[in-house]
Formats: sequence, structure tokens, C-alpha cells
Amino acid sequence: MKRITVAKGDGIGPEIMDATLEIILAAGAQIEIDEIEVGEKVYLAGNTSGIAAESWETIRKNKIFLKAPITTPQGGGYKSLNVTTRKFLGLYSNVRPCMSLHPFVSTKHPVMDIVIVRENEEDLYAGIEHQQTDEVVQCLKLISRPGCEKIVRYAFEYAKQQNRKKVTCFTKDNIMKQTDGLFHQVFDEIAKEYPEIENEHWIIDIGAAKMADTPEAFDVIVMPNLYGDVLSDIAAQITGSVGLAGSANIGEECSMFEAIHGSAPRRAGQNVANPSGLLQGAIMMLNHIGQTNIAEKVQNAWLKTLEDGIHTYDIYKEGTSKQKVGTKEFAQAVISNLGQKPNILKPVSYANNSELILPKYQRKPAANKKLVGVDLFVHWNQFDPNVLAEKVKKLEDNGVKLNMITNRGIKVWPEGFKETFCTDHWRCRFKAEAGQDFFKSNIIKLLNQALNEEIDVIKTENLYEFDGKSAYSLGQGQ
Ligand code: NAD
Repeated sequence: MKRITVAKGDGIGPEIMDATLEIILAAGAQIEIDEIEVGEKVYLAGNTSGIAAESWETIRKNKIFLKAPITTPQGGGYKSLNVTTRKFLGLYSNVRPCMSLHPFVSTKHPVMDIVIVRENEEDLYAGIEHQQTDEVVQCLKLISRPGCEKIVRYAFEYAKQQNRKKVTCFTKDNIMKQTDGLFHQVFDEIAKEYPEIENEHWIIDIGAAKMADTPEAFDVIVMPNLYGDVLSDIAAQITGSVGLAGSANIGEECSMFEAIHGSAPRRAGQNVANPSGLLQGAIMMLNHIGQTNIAEKVQNAWLKTLEDGIHTYDIYKEGTSKQKVGTKEFAQAVISNLGQKPNILKPVSYANNSELILPKYQRKPAANKKLVGVDLFVHWNQFDPNVLAEKVKKLEDNGVKLNMITNRGIKVWPEGFKETFCTDHWRCRFKAEAGQDFFKSNIIKLLNQALNEEIDVIKTENLYEFDGKSAYSLGQGQ
């Protein structure tokens, strides 16, 4: 018996959760339920994160959380409960299977069966944003080696467990050589540990185009957070309906399972919503807690029900469908199919799945880190780079020289193009001359000089070499 936490959520949440629980309990799921309240009511009672402290305790104690969609109230100040839960519980892996149910659910891609594994904690979603000048705001994209290793290893282990043949990595490392470059590099390193699984890397733009056009070319796809957010919705949509997909959010200790859709408030309380997305989440949960035979039984009964043409309104189609049913009737139909397998759709077999065991991240020895310069970011609104160069050259010191100035990453001094559009946000790079060392004290001197010269430095970024390799981007055109 496994104790799990359940939240029925808002809108259609309670109806689809009741249907889901009824189905899995009828199939013999060995679970005990602690129910907690999250979402709209909790938000509107003044709790800006949508969850009470004692509910966190329940979630952390049980470690397995099945969550129906919630409504985040409009207006400022309310934090997304999903994002908070993922971050607080370290749910680094978001797994979303997207499978076509042709010919029972209309889709342009009848043989699609892919799983998106999305990194869930870092990238641009760290939410570290600043306005620095009148014209420029920034968002920090943070990618870590532990983050990359954990998600890439998860993708390969998942592929191994599910008997999948290939793992593809999507990044944009031709542009983001440090951040996406690290993700790609870690992918190549870890892929070597799984010689039995094919691996490949695609640049995200053409990869996404290919996925939307020829999804049958892919199996498991792993990617950083933002790309995964966008592509996993596209992948679910092109199977025919976002209402049919579930997702798992997996951490080292806790996990959360859900439907990918929202609370559909306009459909609430009418017994019309499709419980399939949440049911798919619950099946992933049963697999995760080792109740694979129950998961298999439910999935096959669900496939059989869809195949029988028993459909909720969102997938009902004159001709293909046989009977339009409500949430409760759909659940009853799945229950009456428990023990049966689909005839045309491929039945699943999870019973022999090995448990997915992931090693803890092993920290690496620190590299030899050497400071070689600094980028001073300057707010300046006169827009002629040559004038700015003359001004900041006054900061030069013994052996420390102005190396270049860029504007939005494009080199504008020395030898810039007059056609390049410049904003009021400038990066002035100072480096040690050949053969000289660069120290933190040089940065302090530069800043002191900038103060004297009334140059508005809005931030600094240190330039390092790690084990002799330069670890910062060049200016575009440098
Ligand atoms: P939505 O997913 O709730 O609805 C989009 C469309 O899909 C609607 O037409 C809806 O009727 C339909 N739909 C969704 N699920 C369905 C189902 N199971 N059966 C049949 N039809 C279904 O997205 P939205 O309208 O943008 O958002 C509504 C609320 O949900 C918002 O408050 C949003 O913040 C929240 N939301 C929550 C989650 C979550 O908790 N994981 C995710 C997304 C959105």
C-alpha cells in the first residue's frame, strides 16, 4: 500500500480526479489517499502561493503527488503553484509522452509516439531578470552541469526502461556556445554510457520543424527548459488533442503527476470533461511507484475504450466515434474494459519494466580557474561607440587595456559598422595585455576610475579561463 497526496484542484479538476481515482482503484491500485486543498480558494484566502504550509508537509511526507489542474487567479501577486512545486521539491525532470491514437482520434500524424523529457528547474526559468538601462532589460539563462547530467541521464534511463531505441537532444548551441553548449556536451558524454541506445543532436529550430512535420523520426527527445515547454505543447497538440496527455515531474525524492491541460473553468461542473490527461498522469504514477501491472491494465482498458469509439465531446467525431459520453460514463466504460486489450491500437506491456534507479549526481573536482579580464556594462546614451571608447579608455591602467566594445553582443569598437543599431547598453571589455596577469584588484581600480570619470557602470562580469580554456563569448564579429 502506498500513501499518496491528492489535490482535486479547480474547474474540471474535481470531476476528472474522481473519475481517475475510481478507475485506478477499480483496477486494484494499492494506494491510500491524503487529500489536500490547493489552488483558487487558497489563493483567494490570501495565500499568494496557492498552498498552505501543512499541505507542503503532507506532500513531502508522502513524496508522491497526484494533482488536478488549478486556476491561477488573474491579477498580480499570485505565484504559479506548478512552478513553485517543481522548484521547491527539486522536480528536475518533466516527462510527457505524446502518442497518436489513429484512427480513433483525428491527427495528421498517425504513427507518432514520442516522449519529451524537459529539464524543469533552470534555464531562463530561474526568473532572474533586471532592467539595467532605459532601453534594456535582461533575463539570466542559467545552465548547470548537475542540471544537464541529471536530465540527460534521466532521458537515457527512461529510454532503457521503456525499451525505446533512440534519444535525441535539441539545443541551440551554434549560438549559445556556453549554456546550450554545455547541455550538448553533457549529452554526448552520457550517451557513450548507453551504447545500445541510438543518440543524435539537432539544432532546435530545424529539429522542431522536423518534429512538427515528421514526428515518426523521433523517439525520446531531451531538451532544456524553455524549448521543452514550447515543444511539449506542440507535440501534444499534433497527436490530436492536448486533452489526452499527462505528464510526470520527477525529482530525486518527490514526484508530481498531472494532466497537461488547465482547469477549463467554462466546462466545470457539467460532467463533460475528458479525464484522459489526468488518467495518463496517474498511469505514469503507478509505473513510478512500481505498480506496473495495474498501470498496464488501466492503459490497455483506456486504449480499448477509445478504440470502441466511446468518446468525450472534445474528441467525438461523427463517423469515427460511436457514443458521446460524459466524464462519469467514460470512467465507467474504462472500468468495464479492465482486463481487456485493444485490438487495433498497440497494447502496452509494462509488467516487466525494471525500476528506474538514478545515481545521485557526483560532484566533479574544481577546475583551475584563472581571471583574465572583465566586462564592464555601461549605461550611456550618446550612441557613438568611438566617443564612448575615448571615454572608457581613460580607465586603462598598467597592463589592463580596453579590448572591445559591443552593443547587444555585436562588436561596435574597434572597427564597427556605422549601420549597426546601438542601444544605451554597452559592454566594455578590459583584458590584461599579453604576458600580464589580471587580478580582482584591477576590477576595483577600473570601477573607481569609472566613478571618477562619471561613467555609469551598471554591472560587471568577470572573464575566466577554466583549465586553460576561455569560458566567455567573443563579441559578434570579433
Ligand atoms: P485549459 O487547458 O484549461 O483549456 C483550454 C481549452 O481546452 C478549453 O477550450 C477547454 O475547454 C479545453 N479543455 C482542457 N482540458 C479539457 C478536458 N480535460 N476535457 C475537455 N476539454 C478540455 O487552458 P486555459 O483556458 O488557458 O486555462 C484555464 C485555467 O487553467 C487558467 O487559470 C490557467 O492558469 C490554468 N492552468 C492550469 C494548469 C495546471 O494546473 N497544470 C495548466 C494550464 C493552465
